[in-house]
Amino acid sequence: MAKPASAKAFIFIAYFAILPLAAATALLFPQPAATRPETAQGGDYLEALLACYPNMFIMQDTNTIIWNDGDIQSIDDGELKDFETMLIKADIADQFSIPYPAGAAAAPPARNQDPGRIRNTAFFKKLYGNNAADVQASLKPLLWMPGVFDRTILFNTRCGAWDSLKKVSEELAALPARFHVYLENIGGTYAWRPIQGTDRLSPHSFGIAIDINTAYSHYWLWDATYQYQNKIPMEIVEIFEKHGFIWGGRWYHYDTMHFEYRPELLW
Ligand SMILES: [Zn+2]
Repeated sequence: MAKPASAKAFIFIAYFAILPLAAATALLFPQPAATRPETAQGGDYLEALLACYPNMFIMQDTNTIIWNDGDIQSIDDGELKDFETMLIKADIADQFSIPYPAGAAAAPPARNQDPGRIRNTAFFKKLYGNNAADVQASLKPLLWMPGVFDRTILFNTRCGAWDSLKKVSEELAALPARFHVYLENIGGTYAWRPIQGTDRLSPHSFGIAIDINTAYSHYWLWDATYQYQNKIPMEIVEIFEKHGFIWGGRWYHYDTMHFEYRPELLW
């Protein structure tokens, strides 16, 4: 059915009135940072956050989230930052600024390619606990590699972290015995502490990171001169990545013992 003339007139006026208004609004209130980061798989990073951390927050608009405790946080502060600044004052969008190369062959990363090492601490406090006591209340014992080792470790039950590590643990337990050496005497999981040499909280503070056997690992700060090295077999890395963990062996600032639950970077 044809629209009445008055409706057509309204649409006509609305069209020509609203478009310039929208354009003027865009000029007055420019959106921050032109390029929106994508996930490594080319996905939208906001979709990745919503999919990986369901029921933790809602989107107020494309640059603002409302956490389920009512706190409001902006996603992109609009600042263009160099690498060092980003490490110190990352916003949520910055966390996606370096795509994580899941499934790639082990290779020395290019300078400052540290996917996942850029973290907004406020974001992790909201997800996993605001302080040590809060995080500890969400930790649960997990039998590490059942049938292989007789050891219990602690991991955070929030946001699927514990469930994902349980799957990793069971799949690692099924690997041939030659892999066990990398996975025994693990370096640890939960510890409320800063990252070595910084005042920023380590992801270990939130009970979402695990260091495997340090005796077979390389950490950039342990080496007097920078030299990327890795002994951790990719079979182990693949199992962690399959279940939402990133690997510190994919960082220029290498930490090859370190695995961290960051499903949004693998989404
Ligand atoms: Zn670690």
